[in-house]
Amino acid sequence: MPELKIERIQVKSILSKSNLPVCEYSVNPYVGCTHACKYCYASFMKRFTGHSEEWGTFLDVKYWNEIKNPRKYNGKELFIGSVTDPYNPQEEEYGRTRALLEQLKGSGAKLSIATKSDLILRDLELIGSFPDARVSWSVNTLDESFKDDMDKAVSIERRLNAMKEFHRAGVRTTCFISPIFPVITDVKAIIERAKEHCNLIWLENLNLRGGYKAVIMDYIADKYPRLLPLYQTVYNRNDRGYWQALDGELKEYASRIGLDYVTNDDSMTRPFDAPPVIVNYFYHSEIKKSAARGGVKNA
Ligand code: SF4
Repeated sequence: MPELKIERIQVKSILSKSNLPVCEYSVNPYVGCTHACKYCYASFMKRFTGHSEEWGTFLDVKYWNEIKNPRKYNGKELFIGSVTDPYNPQEEEYGRTRALLEQLKGSGAKLSIATKSDLILRDLELIGSFPDARVSWSVNTLDESFKDDMDKAVSIERRLNAMKEFHRAGVRTTCFISPIFPVITDVKAIIERAKEHCNLIWLENLNLRGGYKAVIMDYIADKYPRLLPLYQTVYNRNDRGYWQALDGELKEYASRIGLDYVTNDDSMTRPFDAPPVIVNYFYHSEIKKSAARGGVKNA
């Protein structure tokens, strides 16, 4: 892997109006992400930010003028980490996510933070001071060697432990089972591990778009050759049979263990101590596009 290239950059504003259905503003204190996931959907960012380096080998550290009038964000949904991990290892040194939280403290903004790290434990108290804050950890395997093949983030054990600590401290947590790799991701085993420590369980299937499709298919051919025909069916012939069967199986499993199972519904109306709701977001991005055209409500 080439050496990591880190640059400090000055940006006009750190908050951007978002068209994601889950938030009104998205916030990314860094450009790039050193977790370097092989399946990273955010790697398209390279095109817009003038980077030609390999994804995961560069990081722009953002500096901005202090947020004026943070109360303007009172009650607004802010999503931190849509195209980076705000708690990448470099956050320990640069502290830009921490700076952002300190500037927004007391604003009344509703935070949603996505990470694959436990460095976020450093900011537990600060995050807990925001109303309705929630934090999600991506966990798509319990097999640390598969995880090591896919990303450079901290171990799954450390992610699950951070989730437990936040939940114990009364902050809403989400176990984001994403991306689900056909057969390799044992969704039920992950739910068993996480269900006592989270308020939501999101499910998202692996999409293979762009440059990383070949990387993943080559990996499957090399490490899981017996699964290659299935992956070819799902990703070369766009056959949804696997996902439909998994959806049915998980629905049945959820009902057996007494958890609600919904599709594309992220309403947060449960009391904190209620069991988590499983939300299926299979093919969510396609549904979003359709919703944008007026085709689907509540996506
Ligand atoms: S943690 Fe998220 S943003 Fe970072 S490389 Fe992985 S998928 Fe991409």
